[in-house]
Amino acid sequence: MSELFIGGRWTAALDERVREIRCPADGTLVGAVAEAGAKDVSAAVAAARDAFDRGPWPTTPAAERGRLLLRVADLLERDKAAYARAESLDTGKRLVESEYDLDDIANCFRYFGELTASGGGGRIVDTGRSDTDSRVVHEPVGVCALITPWNYPLLQTAWKVAPALGAGNTFVLKPSELTPHTAVLLMRTLVEAGLPDGVANLVLGSGPEVGAPLAEDPRVDLVSFTGGLATGRRVMAAAAPTVKRIALELGGKNPNIVFADADFDTAVDHALTAVFLHSGQVCSAGARLLVQDELHDAFVDAVVDGARTIRLGGPFDEEARTGPLISAAHRAKVEAYVAAGVAEGAVLRCGGARPEDPTLAEGFFYLPTVLDECTASMSVVRDESFGPVLTVERFRTEEEAVALANDTVYGLAGAVWTGDVGRAHRVASRLRAGTVWINDFHPYVPQAEWGGMKQSGFGRELGPTGLAEYQETKHVWHNLAPRPQGWFA
Ligand code: NAD
Repeated sequence: MSELFIGGRWTAALDERVREIRCPADGTLVGAVAEAGAKDVSAAVAAARDAFDRGPWPTTPAAERGRLLLRVADLLERDKAAYARAESLDTGKRLVESEYDLDDIANCFRYFGELTASGGGGRIVDTGRSDTDSRVVHEPVGVCALITPWNYPLLQTAWKVAPALGAGNTFVLKPSELTPHTAVLLMRTLVEAGLPDGVANLVLGSGPEVGAPLAEDPRVDLVSFTGGLATGRRVMAAAAPTVKRIALELGGKNPNIVFADADFDTAVDHALTAVFLHSGQVCSAGARLLVQDELHDAFVDAVVDGARTIRLGGPFDEEARTGPLISAAHRAKVEAYVAAGVAEGAVLRCGGARPEDPTLAEGFFYLPTVLDECTASMSVVRDESFGPVLTVERFRTEEEAVALANDTVYGLAGAVWTGDVGRAHRVASRLRAGTVWINDFHPYVPQAEWGGMKQSGFGRELGPTGLAEYQETKHVWHNLAPRPQGWFA
């Protein structure tokens, strides 16, 4: 059984509750994990607080902290097979996708390791006075609550853990209750890399029983949350009474805009990956296809043909191209969105059902689905279904494309496909989204910031800003020749 990790020790939950984890691809038992409650959270926060207030980590030289992150990257590479297997069993995603994720995760630790190690010792300010030393320094924020989702469990965790440690913080990590196993492995790797006790703490369990008390705890200085919009609002409210720093990486309903002058075959190919990768369970999924009128029929036909050929299967099926949804409840939500879309007038072009293949019957599979003739008022267009569901809308002009693309409460990502460079950059500059791809979809690098505008959240992960999220900025003024001022004399 996997346990909680608090103050450098593995421990059962105080009330000894346990949760079973089953693979969403076939329902097989993956393992049992401790199910924490509020008292376990309190103990974990106490350990992180103590390690921050008394421990060596916050004052360990940045170069040494950076070296530890580089060691973590090496260990992740060494143990890639075990990590990838654990991630695939928890999420149901194909093993090869978990392997790609593991490469990205090691790169993330390596990037923040190097950034931390090369971090300067602050900035000297020119006050114009020779009797003063004035400098701006960066310090860790303190105890961080890191709350992560189930779709890219260890990747989302790495985006928080690596910069949090690099900046010198201590943390309590709460992964999704559906996908805890790679977080457990990460604690072991951090210990092996030499992280002092109490710096990294892990609590496993549900959002209401573990996430909520963590976000509320007055001893926590910062909450970094990745997850859904509704939960993000709750986390923000929970953090408000003690004015914690927060970063929210929430959902998206990302437009993929295709102009008639785009490279047709490439745009079709990417439109499929944009939305059906990981069965649409991607925050930046290109779930809203906006196609220029004259291209619409041929383009949608080609996308539908492509969607019909996508083979579903479990993590170890090498023929499969995508996997199941995470849970029965999540599939039911996706099904309801598709039904609502059809009821509101969308045309179901393919999918819209569970696969008939009896070998998939025990998993939460759902066919790649294309809904044509959609309008911006439909719930399946407005809300994040987070499943393999593509909605198609038409536009005539560039102006209309931008207006449709921005007609959403979200602002995470978006793409524009065109052969006209001027138009590509005009549209990119007008999209209200944290990431815009031109003639591409999905790539990211740890050197570039990631995050949302509007209700996709605020704060940035990755890049130099991703490290700065975990730092306080302090101005230290040193009067080198103190003498009475005489103001009140
Ligand atoms: P979720 O909001 O249900 O859960 C996310 C995490 O919050 C889980 O660990 C959960 O247990 C916890 N939680 C639930 N209730 C809580 C509460 N009241 N207080 C504190 N924590 C609580 O999201 P999910 O279903 O796990 O993940 C899918 C969502 O995550 C999608 O909306 C997706 O777009 C989003 N996401 C965003 C990004 C990004 O970079 N912006 C990346 C990945 C996923």
